[in-house]
Amino acid sequence: KSKAKEIRSEEVDIAFADVAGLENAKNELRQMVDYLKDPQQFQEIGAELPKGVLLAGPPGTGKTLMARAVAGEAGVPFFSISGSEFVEMFVGVGASRVRDMFGKAKKNAPSLIFIDELDSIGRARGTGIGGGHDEREQTLNQILSEIDGFSPQESVIVLAATNRPDVLDPALIRPGRFDRQIHLDLPRKEARKKIIELHAGKVLLAEGVDFDLLASATVGFSGADLKNLVNEAALLAARKGKKRVDEEDFNESRDKIIMGIKREDRLSE
Ligand code: ATP
Repeated sequence: KSKAKEIRSEEVDIAFADVAGLENAKNELRQMVDYLKDPQQFQEIGAELPKGVLLAGPPGTGKTLMARAVAGEAGVPFFSISGSEFVEMFVGVGASRVRDMFGKAKKNAPSLIFIDELDSIGRARGTGIGGGHDEREQTLNQILSEIDGFSPQESVIVLAATNRPDVLDPALIRPGRFDRQIHLDLPRKEARKKIIELHAGKVLLAEGVDFDLLASATVGFSGADLKNLVNEAALLAARKGKKRVDEEDFNESRDKIIMGIKREDRLSE
């Protein structure tokens, strides 16, 4: 028996308000939300939506969060798998999981499917490390045939995330498949400030923490880094026996994270 966990439908209670910044991406995805809320209205009028939408962007920019927010806003079940799950599977297991997931999503339609790390299965064929990889290829083929096989009447939308849209198999991005791309970029200053404020809302803050200054001092941080910044600051404050998180904690946390990012850069050189 494979160690893969069973595909289950999830109810998500995340909304667009939980995603700070990324206004353009939200605007584009709002159409998917409207569709999932009332597919019949779109069908009756003869409007077709893309079946597959690619969320492309660097690690930690909120791709998973955004996909969950679409399901949460629409109030539809969320089904997800991650491309990296398939890497160590026996041949055939990945394909059957994909079949299982699409089957369940259709049965529970309108619904949303999310494929995380699409590039780990969806790399252009024949370019994988060690040449051909049967399992990966079968899984990819199964995804393609599932997407080709369902009609707009089935009211299932597939979102997939990747931080390497450039390496995807061209077959995946052909019309009728993942033919729409939405880019989630690293947050600029105003968005960084919003993300810090959103996460800081969950901790007890001391007076006078300057989020504007912190946003200026966190160039290059992803949403995930900023979430980490707030949590790390809270941990530091707690360890020092403070009752509230203050500016000193945020600065220390920021320095720590910057060191971490630098170390990662060195390792990947
Ligand atoms: P990866 O490519 O590494 O899988 P991802 O793009 O899917 O990353 P998420 O897993 O969605 O990123 O982000 C991790 C966490 O960072 C989120 O759960 C959230 O707490 C925080 N985060 C990221 N972006 C944002 C954002 N725009 N607003 C609020 N929180 C964010």
